[in-house]
Amino acid sequence: GERRPTDLNALADEYLKIAYHGLRAKDKDFNADLKTNFMTDLGRIEVVPQEIGRVLLNLYNNAFYAVIKKQKLAPSGYQPTVTVSTHQFNGQLQIRVSDNGTGMPESVKAKIFQPFFTTKPTSEGTGLGLSLSYDIVTKGHGGTLTAESEPNQGTVFTIALPLT
Ligand code: ADP
Ligand code: MG
Repeated sequence: GERRPTDLNALADEYLKIAYHGLRAKDKDFNADLKTNFMTDLGRIEVVPQEIGRVLLNLYNNAFYAVIKKQKLAPSGYQPTVTVSTHQFNGQLQIRVSDNGTGMPESVKAKIFQPFFTTKPTSEGTGLGLSLSYDIVTKGHGGTLTAESEPNQGTVFTIALPLT
């Protein structure tokens, strides 16, 4: 794919809806709050839209998986929430995807970008999503992909891309 000037707010919003509606098509009972907090006048940036879209889809699918898993364990009153926000500072543009799902311990977090690392049953995960996403963001776009997580609280992934 070719790099093109891309509206990352629109891309992040579009793929959030694609991921959510894909899940709802399989499970009508699933409900999550989707929150967006987009910085207006986000700097112009050139990316391969399909590739960053693929990264976003991976992050969203992981986030929904984590909230669904938590919902199965959680007492009533838990409201699954997936939030995407955009930020710009220090010549960087950031997209953050956060969830209030299961979170992960440090021992898991240390391995998530390794190919084939998964904590999911084989029918539900290959362990390739984050390693592919890492390569797209770092090698493909000169950016960084990082995670912060708190067991039982949730997880935040940050895609940081250099502004052009
Ligand atoms: P897969 O989704 O196929 O397991 P990924 O590379 O996308 O592979 O993710 C690797 C692992 O990272 C997951 O199996 C899970 O343990 C952990 N993980 C990724 N995203 C999250 C998240 N949002 N919340 C909790 N754990 C996560
Ligand atoms: Mg995945």
